[in-house]
Amino acid sequence: MNKNNGFRPKLPGRGPNALWLLLALVGLGVGYLFWYNSVNREVESVSFSKLLTAIEADTVDSMIVQGQHAQGKFKDGKVFDTYIVPTNQLWDSLKTHKVDVEIYPMEKESWGGYAFFILLFIGIMLFVFYMRQSQNGGGGSSKIFSVGKSKARFFSPNTITVTFKDVAGNQEAKEDVQDIIEFLKRPEHFSRLGAKIPRGVLLTGAPGNGKTLIAKAVAGEANCPFFSISGSDFVEVFVGVGASRVRDLFAQARRHSPCIVFIDEIDAVGRQRGIGMGGGNDEREQTLNQLLAEMDGFSTEQGAVIVIAATNRPDVLDKALLRPGRFDRTIEVPYPDLTSREEILNVHIRNVKCKDIDLHKIAQGTAGFSGADLENLINEAALLASKAGEEGVMMKYFELARDKILLGAERKTIIFTEKDKAMTAHHEAGHALLNLLLPDTDPFHKVTIVPRGRTLGVSWSLPIRDKYSQNKEELVARIIVCFGGLLGERMFFNTQTSGCSNDLEQATKIARTMVCRYGMSDLGPIDYDSSQENPYVGRDMQNGREFSERTAQRIDEEVEKIMGDCYRKGEQLLQEHRDKLALLAKTLIEKETVQAAEVYVLLDLPPRETHVFESK
Ligand code: ADP
Ligand code: ZN
Repeated sequence: MNKNNGFRPKLPGRGPNALWLLLALVGLGVGYLFWYNSVNREVESVSFSKLLTAIEADTVDSMIVQGQHAQGKFKDGKVFDTYIVPTNQLWDSLKTHKVDVEIYPMEKESWGGYAFFILLFIGIMLFVFYMRQSQNGGGGSSKIFSVGKSKARFFSPNTITVTFKDVAGNQEAKEDVQDIIEFLKRPEHFSRLGAKIPRGVLLTGAPGNGKTLIAKAVAGEANCPFFSISGSDFVEVFVGVGASRVRDLFAQARRHSPCIVFIDEIDAVGRQRGIGMGGGNDEREQTLNQLLAEMDGFSTEQGAVIVIAATNRPDVLDKALLRPGRFDRTIEVPYPDLTSREEILNVHIRNVKCKDIDLHKIAQGTAGFSGADLENLINEAALLASKAGEEGVMMKYFELARDKILLGAERKTIIFTEKDKAMTAHHEAGHALLNLLLPDTDPFHKVTIVPRGRTLGVSWSLPIRDKYSQNKEELVARIIVCFGGLLGERMFFNTQTSGCSNDLEQATKIARTMVCRYGMSDLGPIDYDSSQENPYVGRDMQNGREFSERTAQRIDEEVEKIMGDCYRKGEQLLQEHRDKLALLAKTLIEKETVQAAEVYVLLDLPPRETHVFESK
């Protein structure tokens, strides 16, 4: 494993589907009917006169009577069913022939039938209860049978405590929505002058960077109500439900105008129409059409409803959504840069007790972290510090927290054989040494063979500053470092493990991008990768490939050439410094983790700037 500081996207979770519950209920009912019929199958219907004869003939064993309905058993075990005239003569006859008779009041007759309905009733009540639970989701009013009602959560102005003070960085976004806030505060002022205000604002950016936060802060600043719903909440299996939920949402919103409707994950409904496997998706299309109709439908006089939507896939959205009068303003909410990270840390550290910390340094060492990641970092650090019984959170806990967030928790229980350990040590030492020897890499951070998450070990570099592009030398260096693990294993054990697969994948990806997108090969500066990724169809199935078979072959050759050159360069470097590799691996086996500062001393290398959060 060779790690360049990255992040993990969070996936939205989805609860169990109500449909399953319904299916289970139907299954229960059908099962019961089968059972009920099988129990009642062996019954013989007899006439009243036959029954009298049978009693006289002494062949009747017992009887159950309920009004005029009677069931009983013959002495040979057969069951019969009949209607009787309850005369004295019958009772006498029964008595003389010693037939065991039980009499029941009327209700007993169809107890079995009733049981079914009682069960069904209980089931329906459970179902309704379940639907209510899942729809109320923490807020909103209680709604029974509200399948077609929107699941939006409603926040009244006095419950919104978020303002722009809580949104760090994102200066452009805040400025871009300033006029919307003004409009929401005094809509009549705007309509009087005939000014047009955007109906919809699209916030784009990776998860955790504060899209929801910004939308809510707009409501907080304007002191107006806020409806929040996720695009996936509209989409159900039943056709038409989504559309009716959209209608319901906007009807509610108009009643509370001026207000904000926030639709998270708009791509769930707003994907381009008419494409995808097996034709279109009727339900989603209807929902989208309804949304477009609603947005077209309201004028500023009718109701000041501003729709703010969020997505991290603006590329897949239906173009109709982006037309004037709909989401005609797009605001990017990017990953925070160095200054913004420091500000975000400042916002979230307010309630945490710290000791000797340097937020600037933490910001420097967390390139690629989202706002939510930073919030999480502070929380993890605070947890670790309190577990350790500290008075305040110190720098070293931020270091531990960062490891945990980037790589998952340490796995202390995994059992290594000596051989595995040596193998992993040489693998990681190979990555680390190449990282240290090549000038175009990010500064080496640390190397460890403590297994974390799914990795057995990590050699780790961290960028010293935020990077917006990489040059050819840096990309080549990254590929070479990727080969370090494989080379370490081959040079010392004459074999290789499956642990190299991830490294090879990474290396190949970089090489291919260099050839196809960056024009960094003998194929020349041409983009062979511009065909937009179709969200539904796998890449290889697209017929939009814009180059010939021959070019495809040349691309492969160029990729092979880059990979081959990098491999040889790495091999040559490690051969030259074989003793250093052996020493680093040996140290790793002993200490399991080696920090940059130690490595520079150990291997006698000139140190480079790093961002280790050490306590001052
Ligand atoms: P998104 O909607 O983009 O997925 P959220 O708005 O839900 O992201 O952000 C998740 C959390 O991360 C927020 O509740 C907030 O605590 C924190 N956060 C993200 N960006 C910022 C920021 N710019 N300033 C302060 N906190 C932020
Ligand atoms: Zn590796």
